[in-house]
Amino acid sequence: MISKDSSAEATIESELLERLSKQSVLSPIPVIATLSPIAFFASSYVSSSLWITWFALVTTMQLIRLLVLRKLPVMSQYTARQRLRVAAGVSLINGIAHGLSLAFFIYFSDFERAYLSIVLGGFSAIAVVTTAGYRPISLAYILPTLLPLALLWSLFPGSEHEPWVYYALSATIGIFYCPILVVLSGDTFTMFKGSFDSRSRQISLNNQLKTALRTAESASQSKARFLASASHDLRQPIHTLSLFVTSLGMRPLDSKSQTIVGHINEAISILANQLDSLLDVSKLDAGVIDIRPKVINIRHLVERLAKEYEAIAAEKGLAFQYECACDGAVETDELLLERIVRNLLENAIKYTDEGNIKVRLSLKADNYIIQVIDTGRGIPKQDLSKIFEEFYQVDNPERDRTKGLGLGLAIVKRMTSLLEIDLDLESEQGTGTCFTLSLTAANAIPEKATSARKISAPVRSWRDLSVLVIDDEESVRLAMQSILEEMGCTVKLTDSTQHAVQTATLEPVNIVLADFRLRGEDNGIQAIQAIRNIYPDMPALLISGDTDPKRIQDAAKANIELLHKPVKVELLVESMCKQLKLEPELIT
Ligand code: ADP
Repeated sequence: MISKDSSAEATIESELLERLSKQSVLSPIPVIATLSPIAFFASSYVSSSLWITWFALVTTMQLIRLLVLRKLPVMSQYTARQRLRVAAGVSLINGIAHGLSLAFFIYFSDFERAYLSIVLGGFSAIAVVTTAGYRPISLAYILPTLLPLALLWSLFPGSEHEPWVYYALSATIGIFYCPILVVLSGDTFTMFKGSFDSRSRQISLNNQLKTALRTAESASQSKARFLASASHDLRQPIHTLSLFVTSLGMRPLDSKSQTIVGHINEAISILANQLDSLLDVSKLDAGVIDIRPKVINIRHLVERLAKEYEAIAAEKGLAFQYECACDGAVETDELLLERIVRNLLENAIKYTDEGNIKVRLSLKADNYIIQVIDTGRGIPKQDLSKIFEEFYQVDNPERDRTKGLGLGLAIVKRMTSLLEIDLDLESEQGTGTCFTLSLTAANAIPEKATSARKISAPVRSWRDLSVLVIDDEESVRLAMQSILEEMGCTVKLTDSTQHAVQTATLEPVNIVLADFRLRGEDNGIQAIQAIRNIYPDMPALLISGDTDPKRIQDAAKANIELLHKPVKVELLVESMCKQLKLEPELIT
């Protein structure tokens, strides 16, 4: 079995082979150029066959060295250690070839000797650097060059200075310079290994991070996909059920049956609310919530909500106070802000068994502060940061879904950050809770509330309405028919774009209600657009159980209002009235 250490060593050795290969290209020309003056000096003292042979040898060795070092990294049939041994062999032969220049030493003048010494000393230092201090290779060059050089300086001292000068020079090379290079070699190789190790660690950490990031991204995508498809598949039957139960409730029933219908409706409504929360979270996470900021009167909004929730708090026997010391404007998305405040008020009432709820609006510096304060059960310290997480509930170990899903504050958190509203929480267990919203004041006058829509269609009663329903599921078609007929409308049922266009051309209709997903490639947007090609102003609603953000964008692009299944009958009626430009209270 290969141990971890030996495999790490093999990797370092392979890295070194790569480095030697890269650097080998740089040396031949400068080395040959540097050695040529030595051949030139020698030509004055020895026969030409001698100096030419030596010069040919060092030049050939440079080329052999280049070829071998370039080839070694790809010779994977041998271990890295074996290949390094070959490199050391080449270095030794190269060193010996350079060292042979010392045969001319005895003939050289002091100046020529000095040049030779500088060249061999310099090449030895370069050998330490280029081999990253790997001793088998660097010493294979240093020893056959520097040791004989040191010896020659003391054996054949020059005549231009006192002999001790030459002995000192010899000692400097042999006793100081050479050992320093040996020590330096070791240190350099240790540093090389260290830097290689830290680079490897860095690469492995980066890879781990990349893998973790990919896992997190794919987990988040599968969560979004799961939410989207689960909510689609659940919405479809709930939608049908809700329509059937509502239409059942419209029929003459005895009081016991009415009570049961009421209970079923209540359960469906809780379920629908929970699905809405899931849809909200998936929409917020997908970043497809459209913010529509406008300048609004903050006092009007808070006052309106306070009045509404005062009545709800009173039903639970809770006192309700509203304090407002200011009036002014903020620029924000009114609907989203309203949902945030509603959520906090609903929680305050839900989690307060006795005492009171207070809503306070104040102005601090340039910020409007909305506070929702209760004297309820409070939140334990250790849960304060967790309650903003999805599905986190403090006191619901049995996960009783009538107590909510634990998504309210997760939605509040996402919405406040979307609207750039500061959200603060203070709470003490057993004493109460205070949620604080801080909104930047706007230097503008609030927009006036839009005036009531005018009735433009000649429809006065549901009986005047002819509704075209497009849905490929029979149970949904029948449920829609049941509810719409119960309202008094005339209903035409179709299951595809082609069928819908045929029906609408034969007998004009007042409004189209289309399911998004139809059979095959067919879909509700296509169907509505095809009908609008014939009747450009045809009012229409798209009903979808799909929470895919793209669906929402497609519907918005096609200028079609999208309702999510299960659609509450009140919302369906309200949206139909909106599309038909009717006042709901005026229609009978
Ligand atoms: P849900 O109300 O559906 O459980 P939320 O996300 O709205 O989910 O709230 C998460 C948890 O935070 C709740 O289960 C509750 O324990 C706690 N909480 C929220 N608001 C209050 C409050 N005003 N007082 C006490 N506890 C609260």
